[in-house]
Amino acid sequence: MAAEDNANSNQTTTSYSPSNSKTNEPKWGYDLYPERRGGTYTPSWFSTIWGLAGREKEDKMKCERNVLTCVRESPMVKLMMGALKSSGCPIDLRRHISCEVCDVSVSGGYDPELNQVVVCQNIARDKGMVQGVLTHEMIHMFDYCNNNLDFKNIEHLACTEIRAANLAHCSFLSACVQGDASILKIKKSHQDCVKTKALYSVLAVRKVTPDEAAEAIERVFPRCYADLEPIGRRIRRNSTDMHRAYLEGPMYGYNV
Ligand SMILES: [Zn+2]
Repeated sequence: MAAEDNANSNQTTTSYSPSNSKTNEPKWGYDLYPERRGGTYTPSWFSTIWGLAGREKEDKMKCERNVLTCVRESPMVKLMMGALKSSGCPIDLRRHISCEVCDVSVSGGYDPELNQVVVCQNIARDKGMVQGVLTHEMIHMFDYCNNNLDFKNIEHLACTEIRAANLAHCSFLSACVQGDASILKIKKSHQDCVKTKALYSVLAVRKVTPDEAAEAIERVFPRCYADLEPIGRRIRRNSTDMHRAYLEGPMYGYNV
């Protein structure tokens, strides 16, 4: 039986109406992005009463402004865009980057079917976070463009999440313009940070047990952790690495 009921019922809570709501099909994480696949974000009666619903438009504009600033000023985002262009997958802002309302469990996403990066306008609310999301998701886009990535294969997914955590999340934080990453307090070793972050990322989009996800991560970890394309180095915090990586881009043939 298809679960078409939630698209037709009168819901009073915040609800999404995905167009393809077949229960027996894996969702591949798309349910986290209600505005994808023709779904619409429906504000709850609560946010309507309190006038919060109108904030979406404002959030979208702010998010798009932050994206633009990162594209112009962030060395990491510029490097990723150059690498994508050199790989034959150039980014057109309007076509490939979309600010949307998402489930609160995610800050961004990559949609391989539409080849789009999603920036969650309700979560990634400053330039630093937007830079982090763009770099992370552009690594997925890069892998999809270059490495025949199949997101339905858990080892492929684990690999690209390891790479994104390694090159973005665990290596720098996010102050878009200054490149100052001192806020992030990584207590564990870098490898542990990468494994933990990759685990959360895999579990956010795939209905597998934590053990299954962790096993997939362990299987591919040495190979995927060592693969630093296209950034070429792990960005150390409080360093000029981000700018150096950007300046080195042309050495690897990237059109930055
Ligand atoms: Zn990811």
